[in-house]
Amino acid sequence: MDTIVQKYGGSSLAEDSQLRAVAERVARTRRAGHRVVVVVSARGDTTSELLASAGRFNTKPDHRELDMLLAAGEQTSASLLSLVLQDLGVPACAMTGPQAGVRTCSGHLNARIKEVEPARMLKALDQGKVVVVAGFQGSSPSGDITTLGRGGSDTTAVAIAAAVKAARCEIYSDVDGVYTADPRLVPDAIRLRMLSLAEMKTLAHHGAGVLNERAIDYALAHGVTILARKSHGEGGQTIVRKEPGAGRSRIVGIAAHKELISVAFSAETDREQLAGMLAEYDAFAPELSERDAGCYLLPTEQLADVDGLAESLRSRFGDTVEVGYPLASVSAVGFQAGQDSSTLAFAKSALAEAGIEVCQAFSFPHAVTCLVSADQVNTAAQAFHAGFRITDSGVADVA
Ligand code: ASP
Ligand code: MG
Repeated sequence: MDTIVQKYGGSSLAEDSQLRAVAERVARTRRAGHRVVVVVSARGDTTSELLASAGRFNTKPDHRELDMLLAAGEQTSASLLSLVLQDLGVPACAMTGPQAGVRTCSGHLNARIKEVEPARMLKALDQGKVVVVAGFQGSSPSGDITTLGRGGSDTTAVAIAAAVKAARCEIYSDVDGVYTADPRLVPDAIRLRMLSLAEMKTLAHHGAGVLNERAIDYALAHGVTILARKSHGEGGQTIVRKEPGAGRSRIVGIAAHKELISVAFSAETDREQLAGMLAEYDAFAPELSERDAGCYLLPTEQLADVDGLAESLRSRFGDTVEVGYPLASVSAVGFQAGQDSSTLAFAKSALAEAGIEVCQAFSFPHAVTCLVSADQVNTAAQAFHAGFRITDSGVADVA
């Protein structure tokens, strides 16, 4: 019997009726003869609400204590889903991240998964149970509960899929796959039928919200195939797997960071210390030279405590580091997209034609990126999407 991991995002579990519908889908998968591990996020806006409530009681909340609080969101989802499953006659067992064997580093609020010890999950699966795991959390070396950064439940799902040797990891959300751009930014975006994990990683790194970048890193390292699907209603899917033969350079999609904080540093800054401090934040770093002044860019959507970080940078580095925001980035992403310098030139001219000022522009191996002012990000994404004619270049893979 093969094992399938299914992950359900918070907006798919917000209403009681949605939770029941998710349970029914899980039950159908179980009854079709698969072993099933379900990973759940906190319902609806729970995580943001919990964070806000902490802020009402303490303006500088300690990160360890915040993790205690935030982990409760996913724990609620896991126990409720397992209760619904049992009510449907499906044997089920809810586990916290630590109970499921998710071990992390000690970086509270943004911990990385170090390993997953699957013994307890495997035992429950052997007993015929559906295992329902609270996503976004694990335990630190000292046994404290940690959380994985915003959107971290995807990473839990992929890490568990690797640990239990699942046939695939199905990630359910309110969209039916990975689109050529965020349809909220670019209305004529279309769904990709398939793309490579490397392309997906680049899209995520440059701001595509569908799948978490760390989850893709895990999938790349362990060869996990991801299916992105819609939780409720009809829809297609996108398959994300190791190199589905992207032979020639192409553009598969447009990604954007709607808000970035820039951390500009002078030539005098202690670079090593700064890099160390930012290491845990998936900083988006344009080419940095060895000695000169430069700039890191940090997407705010993944940061639980932006103000706290800005303040600790200020107190550590004083005037040599300047924290500024908001900026936005738009990127055209695809296999070897940044290899040819004409692509970056084309990107800049597409924005210029749309009347958008480009603050800076960079090439990456699989992307070209322009920084624009935050209020122009939609127009910029649309100009890229229209200019790069993604429907043509990704044609073989576009459904
Ligand atoms: N609930 C967490 C968040 O909202 C983790 C997740 O949804 O993946 O960021
Ligand atoms: Mg959530």
